[in-house]
Amino acid sequence: MAEVDDFFLLREFDSLNRENESTQQKIRDEEERIKRRANELAQRKEQLSAREQSYKEMTHQIAELDRRLLQHLSPEMKAQLEEQGLELMTQQDQIDELIKEDKTFIVGYQKTLLELTSEIESEIQILKNKILTHQKRLDSLLPTINPEWMEKYQKIRAKKLSHGSFSTLEGLHCKFCRHTVSKEFQSDVDVKLQLKSCPGCSRLILPYKAVAG
Ligand SMILES: [Zn+2]
Repeated sequence: MAEVDDFFLLREFDSLNRENESTQQKIRDEEERIKRRANELAQRKEQLSAREQSYKEMTHQIAELDRRLLQHLSPEMKAQLEEQGLELMTQQDQIDELIKEDKTFIVGYQKTLLELTSEIESEIQILKNKILTHQKRLDSLLPTINPEWMEKYQKIRAKKLSHGSFSTLEGLHCKFCRHTVSKEFQSDVDVKLQLKSCPGCSRLILPYKAVAG
């Protein structure tokens, strides 16, 4: 017959398992944070190179206007080309300002990102070590747990029920879903220490001795 301790071992197995899962999620979140920042930086670099491209094109256009101004032109035409040239130069000045802003932003952001990445990477290393430590304990717990129990547990666990895989009885009711069980069911759980599933919510029912204290 099983002992109360067997339930404690199963619960420990479950809680380490769940902790590892949430730690893995934390690691994914942190990695996502780095990726988002890196994307932001890449976008800004693209913006900069698009602006540098238009700056270059304007330089060509201005040079072309200057060449045309060297030809024999009517005074109206000359005035018109000069006006176009001025307009282009004004636009170019504005773009130049934006290019400077982009560059300042990129330099600062690169530095921040570098610091953040190394910070996050060491945080991730700590989390990975935590998982490893838990995994060692899980590996040593596994042989101590009845294989039939483990099979039942893994099935319930696979359902990823909210609020976990376990429930307990309150009188003749499942504490979680309030399903009513027979007196025999209650005695199988609380006296014979069998691992049974609630017929209502399928959670594994822990005997009260494995829950109290
Ligand atoms: Zn239930």
